[in-house]
Amino acid sequence: MSGLPPPPGPDGQPPSGAAVPPANPMIRLVDVHMSFGPLRVLRGVSLDLYHGQAAVIVGPSGTGKSVLLKIIVGLIKPDRGQVFFENKRIDRLGEAELVEVRKKIGMLFQMGALFDSMNVEKNICFPLVQHTDMTADQMRQRCARALRLVGLEGIESKMPSELSGGQRKRVALARAVVLEPSIVLYDEPTTGLDPIRSDVINELISSLCKRLGITTVVVTHDMASANKIADRMIMLYDGRVIADSDPKTFYQTDQELVQRFIHGRANPSELESIHRGFEPLGV
Ligand code: ADP
Ligand code: MG
Repeated sequence: MSGLPPPPGPDGQPPSGAAVPPANPMIRLVDVHMSFGPLRVLRGVSLDLYHGQAAVIVGPSGTGKSVLLKIIVGLIKPDRGQVFFENKRIDRLGEAELVEVRKKIGMLFQMGALFDSMNVEKNICFPLVQHTDMTADQMRQRCARALRLVGLEGIESKMPSELSGGQRKRVALARAVVLEPSIVLYDEPTTGLDPIRSDVINELISSLCKRLGITTVVVTHDMASANKIADRMIMLYDGRVIADSDPKTFYQTDQELVQRFIHGRANPSELESIHRGFEPLGV
């Protein structure tokens, strides 16, 4: 299957405020829908992701951000819609064909879990063992290079339990890039880290994008991360893309939902119902 369908958006125009995008996106989602039983999670997401760009996806919890990333790597098959990776339709591929696609996509999962029973080197080399026929020596070199990239040279023989939370994330990041993917998807990479350790992770993500040219998609709640990383801001709400623009346009928008999210302000009617709960009972 080849040839892309027309670009997303009712009028086929690039996102507002965005520079005119290059013709061929790396990833194209077209009208993607996904439900779990009665729960309609994604309700028609269309999105183009471009080579070398750092796109940050924000949105309330439970709105389908992780599901969206899993659809991009083929871990979840959408109910409806199309997913393209480098012009090739991938949403209906079988596992064997998907393996080839996944080699090019690094993923840092939300929990970033390392295998507790394996040392750092074995953790990082896991994708190499699965997807390549490298020799042990080649793997050791790749592992050392990945560790150097995340600033943790020489910790190959440590066990995950000996590492701090920030170091564990960095090892997970090294594992996500060890196959030298052309795109890395990060799901909440700074969750559970203090602001300083978060800043280190954000800096790493940004450097991998800007210095190595790795296309980057970051799902986050953390507006400090978004500020540091984003070339482009996308907000998902109720299973749809409700904003998609360059960061400046995004921060200046007068869309109330976007502004409330940026500034962490709850819905006024929700606040009112909480305040009502503290009022004396009328007896
Ligand atoms: P978030 O935006 O916080 O990352 P998710 O994408 O994880 O949200 O999930 C969106 C919704 O879909 C949630 O209500 C979640 O419980 C539900 N969900 C996600 N994966 C599954 C699954 N495999 N089976 C059933 N429900 C799921
Ligand atoms: Mg999530």
